[in-house]
This record gives sequence, structure tokens and C-alpha cells, in this order.
Amino acid sequence: MTSILPTIEANTEIPPAHRADMELAAKYACEGPRYTSYPTAPQFREDFPVDQYLAWQRRDGDHKRAPLSLYLHLPFCRDICYYCGCNKIVTRKNGVARQYLDRLQREIQQQSQLVGTQRPVTQLHWGGGTPTYLDNAEITELMHMLASHFRLLEGLP
Ligand code: SF4
Repeated sequence: MTSILPTIEANTEIPPAHRADMELAAKYACEGPRYTSYPTAPQFREDFPVDQYLAWQRRDGDHKRAPLSLYLHLPFCRDICYYCGCNKIVTRKNGVARQYLDRLQREIQQQSQLVGTQRPVTQLHWGGGTPTYLDNAEITELMHMLASHFRLLEGLP
């Protein structure tokens, strides 16, 4: 796609108040990744060294006190949506998520040790999938898991 930015920059008749809006619109007038998760797939890199990530997380600094946003990916759905491109398991059987929840618990433990247990969690998102695929007991278990490894604030959105 050809950018229209040079055209905007060259056009002296565009009032300055509109120029910034037009430049912003032109900048994002391109194809982007379909939003299915955060961060989106193009931001993942296989060549990112895990040792570097661990070293950054262990280093002391302001990031060690900053609030956290947690995202839990729960890739189970009771029904399929035929437009969906997500990586998910479609099933009406109960209990299929058990093994996944056990591994998620290990991940929660590892991540809480890494990022710290006392930083306030100001955002909590569950996605997938359909998080309500989990039954009430599993949802309760997951919330307990989170609450015992992170500092969840009251009234968390
Ligand atoms: S992940 Fe969402 S869009 Fe995809 S099948 Fe499940 S409910 Fe439908």
C-alpha cells in the first residue's frame, strides 16, 4: 500500500489543526493483525532469549514495584463459531480443562516468583476461548490460585 503521508506533508492547504489527525489516520491506514490476544502473535519472537527475559525480570528497579495486569488464556469453548481462527478446544465434555488448569497453576507460581507477589494487580483479564466453559468450582479454584500468588486489589476490573 502506498502511503499518503508525503501528500499530506506537501499539501500546504491543510490547516495545521487537521494535519495531525490526517497524519495519524494515514499512519494506521494499513493492514494489522486480527485481534485475538494480547500481545498479538506478530509480537512473539522465537529468537528472544529467555535468559535475557529472566535477567530483566530479576533486576531491581521501578518495574519491580509497578502494578501488574494479568491475562489468563483459557482456550475452551462449548460451541464453535465458524469464523473463529483462535487456537481452542471445542467440547461439551466436562473436566477437559483439568490438565490445563494444573499446568496453569505451575505457570502462576513461576510467574509470581519472577515478577513478585506484592505488586498490585490492577487489571485481570480472562480470554480464550470461553472462560465460562469452566464450572463454578474451577473458576473459584482459579481465583484462589491467583489470590494466593498475587496481590489482587478489591474491586478489580
Ligand atoms: S474462541 Fe470465541 S470466537 Fe472462537 S469459537 Fe470460542 S467463543 Fe467462538
